Amino acid sequence: MRIGFHVSIGGGMHRALEAARQRRCQTMQVFSAAPSTWMRRKSNPEEDAAFVAGCQQADIRPVFTHAPYLLNLASADRNLWQKGVSVLAQELNIANRWQALGVVLHLGSAGGQDPVKGLKRVIKAIRQARDRTDGPSLVILENCAGQGSVVGRTMAEIGEIIAEATPERIGVCLDTAHAFAAGYAINTPDGLDEMLQEAESAFGLDLVKLIHLNDSRSALGSRVDRHEDIGRGHIGREGFQVIFSEPRLRHLPFIMETPKIPGDDLADDLSNLRRVRRIIPKDLRPPLPPLLIRIIHQPVGRTF
Ligand SMILES: [Zn+2]
Ligand SMILES: [Zn+2]
Repeated sequence: MRIGFHVSIGGGMHRALEAARQRRCQTMQVFSAAPSTWMRRKSNPEEDAAFVAGCQQADIRPVFTHAPYLLNLASADRNLWQKGVSVLAQELNIANRWQALGVVLHLGSAGGQDPVKGLKRVIKAIRQARDRTDGPSLVILENCAGQGSVVGRTMAEIGEIIAEATPERIGVCLDTAHAFAAGYAINTPDGLDEMLQEAESAFGLDLVKLIHLNDSRSALGSRVDRHEDIGRGHIGREGFQVIFSEPRLRHLPFIMETPKIPGDDLADDLSNLRRVRRIIPKDLRPPLPPLLIRIIHQPVGRTF
């Protein structure tokens, strides 16, 4: 078991690495650039190499990137769809340069169109983005809460996409808050088992590459995506006890995307980390990476 956070890349990649170390991450996730813009990061071989070396030095692995929110690969709007494919291909190239295991992707919303058509568009987009790039970084499909006509609420649906797109360079991310809101009672042994069995027959649990570890502010089956601090939501402390005791998940990286108060996100993350570690059975609790004491601050007002 490895534990980490989604950290901000604002201020540069060295800041993301520093944020990960302050949070005592053993694994991490980052956006490659601001998630609400189409602009992607330009290649900077020196910066990329420093990031890769820094992650290795701090033993932070695996690293994941998260595709921007603007992507909608299920969209019937041709222009938007093509832009999405191009951005996903660029994200895969960035992930390769950063030696990230893969790009975590929300599958998008079919909108008013026939859901089957939306699904087909997602499959085509994944195939095209993959064809435009060389490996080894994976396209990692994330399950969603199921709000509106979003694609990827059930394990079966994710399985359909993977079967059509072929499992080559594909992974799956299971988000605990999304699964719970989607109607999987993963806070109970039976509910968790049911989801994992469905995943096993739909695409095979070997394809699961990470867990997004979030509690849910919204109720079971509500289909509303609202993250909560670990142990303080509807999954709750006991629910996470069930999740951490599950042998089929134990080898995976667990990455938190828990809520943060702007300006005080380090304290929020560290208190979530403390709670998580208290819930994990003692014999399974991973070692805590050393505390980063020396923090390098860039001079204010200077740009590089
Ligand atoms: Zn997530
Ligand atoms: Zn979410």
